[in-house]
Amino acid sequence: MNIKERLNRILSTLPKGVQLVAVSKFHPAERLQEAYDAGQRIFGESRPQEMVAKYDVLPKDIEWHMIGHLQTNKVKYIAPFVTMISSVDSDRLIEEIEKQAAKNNRTIDILLEVHVAQEETKSGWSEEELRAYLSSGILNNMAHVRVRGVMTIASNTDDESVVRHDFETIRRIFNELKPQFGEAFDTLSIGMSDDYPIALEYDSTMVRIGTAIFGAREY
Ligand SMILES: *Cc1c(COP(=O)(O)O)cnc(C)c1O
Repeated sequence: MNIKERLNRILSTLPKGVQLVAVSKFHPAERLQEAYDAGQRIFGESRPQEMVAKYDVLPKDIEWHMIGHLQTNKVKYIAPFVTMISSVDSDRLIEEIEKQAAKNNRTIDILLEVHVAQEETKSGWSEEELRAYLSSGILNNMAHVRVRGVMTIASNTDDESVVRHDFETIRRIFNELKPQFGEAFDTLSIGMSDDYPIALEYDSTMVRIGTAIFGAREY
């Protein structure tokens, strides 16, 4: 199957309203162009420099989503054009996004990354840390950051019950936080190539799929 066929097959399985982020990290711009020509407009990248290089050469109506861990000193490179930062995992990072978005006269959408998986290597806030941060009220002063929802990476395991437990947990957190934020808080970003069919059962509104579209990555 080529990229267009893979994309269409995935899209045919997504309920209406679920957004597909085509995770294009480590793939050359030509492959993204192929997906673009097939109609895809949202692309996810994990490294700022790589995102900027692709932004420079690809059509300007692409929505760029930063999905990988982002160092605060790199925010300035993507702030002029990035649509969403899905991997927001610290107060310092939010402050820097606010600062750089303001400088560029923009509003940047963010997702709060919550750590719910069993593995300790995964990034993101613990539920307790996140609740403590939110209750500080600091976020209310951020005029150029719009909190759209939460994101998580489920445990990397063949044990489906563990993955389901992770998705169940993040869905509960999403639903509990929603009243604090109001209407713009509409995004539950869960589901990757191997687990997105399960994530859809837990009300995912945004899946992030790389390998199943572009094939294996060469690091
Ligand atoms: C790489 C990555 C993906 C895509 O993973 P695939 O297994 O290739 O679909 C999704 N989300 C995040 C945060 C990633 O880093």
